[in-house]
Amino acid sequence: MWVDSHVNLHGDAFKDDLDELMARAKGAQVTHMLTICCRLSEFSQVHNLAKRFENMWCSVGTHPHEARHNPDISPDELIAHSRNPKVIGIGETGLDYHYNYSDKAAQVHNFKAHIDAARQTQLPLIIHSRDADDDMADMLETEYKNGAFPMLLHCFTAGDRLAKRLDKLGSYFSLSGIVTFKSAQDIRDIAKYLPDERIMIETDCPYLSPVPYRGRRNEPAYVPHVGAKLAEIKGWSLEDTAKTTTAAFFNLFQKADPSITDDIS
Ligand SMILES: [Zn+2]
Repeated sequence: MWVDSHVNLHGDAFKDDLDELMARAKGAQVTHMLTICCRLSEFSQVHNLAKRFENMWCSVGTHPHEARHNPDISPDELIAHSRNPKVIGIGETGLDYHYNYSDKAAQVHNFKAHIDAARQTQLPLIIHSRDADDDMADMLETEYKNGAFPMLLHCFTAGDRLAKRLDKLGSYFSLSGIVTFKSAQDIRDIAKYLPDERIMIETDCPYLSPVPYRGRRNEPAYVPHVGAKLAEIKGWSLEDTAKTTTAAFFNLFQKADPSITDDIS
């Protein structure tokens, strides 16, 4: 069985065929998934979706792109939402200096609120980082000294230095379809040395379809293609890859119960 650790299923991309999509995921042995909240104002939509499916959980948070829409975000409101049984992580949050849709100060303020919430709840912080390696590592190291919190760097595209610094903080890492792209040899080279027991996989659907679906709408049923690439990178069997990445997911997201499947209702 496979887990898709990062899906964005509440949007328009999936409004017409969600039940078929869930059936295709099941057919591909993708048994569990985590759907991500990217804007606090969309939380109830995301949460309702997770409540519809036994084998789906959700997060609560505001993406760095959206930080400017939530200038007054506080740890307390994140914590209040996180008390729902379906909410298993804080985020996604982080720093994105590639697009800079929100200015740096707004992103830092937003990220800090999420870190505080993760520290207080001990729910994993789901981190997005793009073109911000040094600031990301500096901020996480500084904050970690004020009190530990579990964390996951999603859609791994980090440089070697950020990977090493986060590894020291016990971070988990999630690989997306990007690792299947021909151009991503540098990411595969780093992924090879990520800690075996702290790697998981994701689609980040509807974005970033793995080869051979690149350019099309992505969906959870494709996550085994990311798994197959990880197996190749690590020299693992497909079965061990499924087992190891699934175990990593449930070790990190301890609020999620692996015995819950969509067969129970
Ligand atoms: Zn992201």
